[in-house]
Amino acid sequence: MVPRFARSLVALCLVVPLVLLLLPFEVHDAAESGTGAPPFHHLVHGFRNLNPEYEYPILPRFLRAVVDRFERRIDRGKPLVLAPNDGAVLRANGNHPTATWIGHSTLLVQIDGVNVLTDPNWNTRVSPVSFAGPKRLVPPGMRFEDLPPIHAVVISHDHYDHLDLPTVARLAREHRPRFFVPLGLKAWFADHDIRDVVELDWWGEAEHLGLRFVCTPAQHSSGRWITDQNRRLWSTWSVLGKERRFFFAGDTGYFAGFSEIGKRLGPFDLAAIPIGGYLSANGKPHPNHVNPEEALQVFTDIGGRSMVPMHWGTFALNREPFAEPPQRLIQEAARRGLVDQVQVLKPGQSLDW
Ligand code: ZN
Ligand code: ZN
Repeated sequence: MVPRFARSLVALCLVVPLVLLLLPFEVHDAAESGTGAPPFHHLVHGFRNLNPEYEYPILPRFLRAVVDRFERRIDRGKPLVLAPNDGAVLRANGNHPTATWIGHSTLLVQIDGVNVLTDPNWNTRVSPVSFAGPKRLVPPGMRFEDLPPIHAVVISHDHYDHLDLPTVARLAREHRPRFFVPLGLKAWFADHDIRDVVELDWWGEAEHLGLRFVCTPAQHSSGRWITDQNRRLWSTWSVLGKERRFFFAGDTGYFAGFSEIGKRLGPFDLAAIPIGGYLSANGKPHPNHVNPEEALQVFTDIGGRSMVPMHWGTFALNREPFAEPPQRLIQEAARRGLVDQVQVLKPGQSLDW
């Protein structure tokens, strides 16, 4: 048996030269200036965040991921217990608004009689390859086969935990939904022969089956490999019906833009907001992931009425123990007098909203 530190060392020796070789591809170019200049978040070869202080360099991030893979020391505690859901009630549902947490950032949202999936992922790993990478530790809360007909899918960005090729390919084949994606992803879908795709920039919107799908800003990054870092945009999504408004926060750090979303499109009857993945290497607030306390600030900023936490307890991705994010969330909700508005779901559990 090779000791852990030796495995890490070997992995780093293999990966560091490769990363250094590819680093020039990281996007640092400035946007064009002058009249008719593109929006601040547009760069010549990609995108950037609105907060000028934002910094999340790729090298330490990549090395950390490699060490995490080979150390395997993270004890996340007991896996979550499922709330088995055979989908029968959801398939029979007409217009009643429901939301079901499938796991991680995948939710099935029924709004105005339209069935919407967020960042759908039924895969067993989140990785460029099927034989390695962070594993699923909790099965999906509902079998793919038990889904009601899916009419629309929103995708927040191209990271593997949010954009899973086998899942979106199967959805396109079996459900033929319309995919709503941020800038740069339509070409990725076309490469995989998925054509019913609406690509939008921040604040762009499209109508589908009586709902308004608005692509709203986020603070994050993108990339499926070292050479395509930040080439495709990341976003949150606001899905607005006649009776109900749903906000999907995707994957995001905290930034000032949430108040603007609240002002322009709120209040939201239901908001799905990430609460996991916040442990940063230097102890500072994570630039790419909100912690549970920041998640509640997002909820307040956008004018949320009911919140479902997500992006926790599913994959071997986040460093914090499974039990910690919901505990911190409830504690902070109590401090802010918001306990009744926060609904921590088990995978498979549905709520009416
Ligand atoms: Zn991400
Ligand atoms: Zn994520």
